[in-house]
Amino acid sequence: MQDEKTVYLTFDDGPSHNTARILNILQQHNVPATFFVNGYDTDFSHQMYQRIVNEGHQLGNHTYSHDYEKIYQSPEAFIEDVEKLQDFLETSTGVRPEVFRFPAGSNNQIYRRVQQDNPYLMIEIKQLLREKELPYFDWNASSTDAAAVTLDTDIIIKNTLKHVAGHQNAIILFHDSAAKSTTVEALPTIIRRLESLGYHFDVLTPDSFYVHFNYLLF
Ligand SMILES: [Zn+2]
Repeated sequence: MQDEKTVYLTFDDGPSHNTARILNILQQHNVPATFFVNGYDTDFSHQMYQRIVNEGHQLGNHTYSHDYEKIYQSPEAFIEDVEKLQDFLETSTGVRPEVFRFPAGSNNQIYRRVQQDNPYLMIEIKQLLREKELPYFDWNASSTDAAAVTLDTDIIIKNTLKHVAGHQNAIILFHDSAAKSTTVEALPTIIRRLESLGYHFDVLTPDSFYVHFNYLLF
């Protein structure tokens, strides 16, 4: 529907014990989300990957290592790390991810610390992702939960709602890493408030709404 308002909850950097709590909350509220995960080869993490898939969420790729020094060495090193996670998650869950998010977003300048000789590194990586048919997604609303190790629950709620306001389609950035307990605590209120504003919830797919940051080469 043309006038439908949609919100895409996205959680980066998991799984951790907070992922299980988030999955429980999503289940209680019957809303889907997208999890951009990293590679953790533990029994618990495999359980989390499987729950994400089984409970109707989207399992997304956020690189295996999330190690800037490693992935931003070269386009090939980056794609190798991405493919390692693709294979790992497919073996773990039977599902090969169809969506991707860059560590630190697609406009990050972090790679310049690592790879100062190639200003086109990010452009070359994006080209390789296109060849792999793995679309990437940035965000247009931030929970700001990365602004501190553990930000106040009330601040996360307030900032999230402020950033979603005015967007017909909002992709919200959250983190489900181990320190983000207040993100979990903020989530039920955020879901209720967004529902009362008329938003419905969906997962990111290769055909869904997307956000790409402007990339400034300078
Ligand atoms: Zn990340």
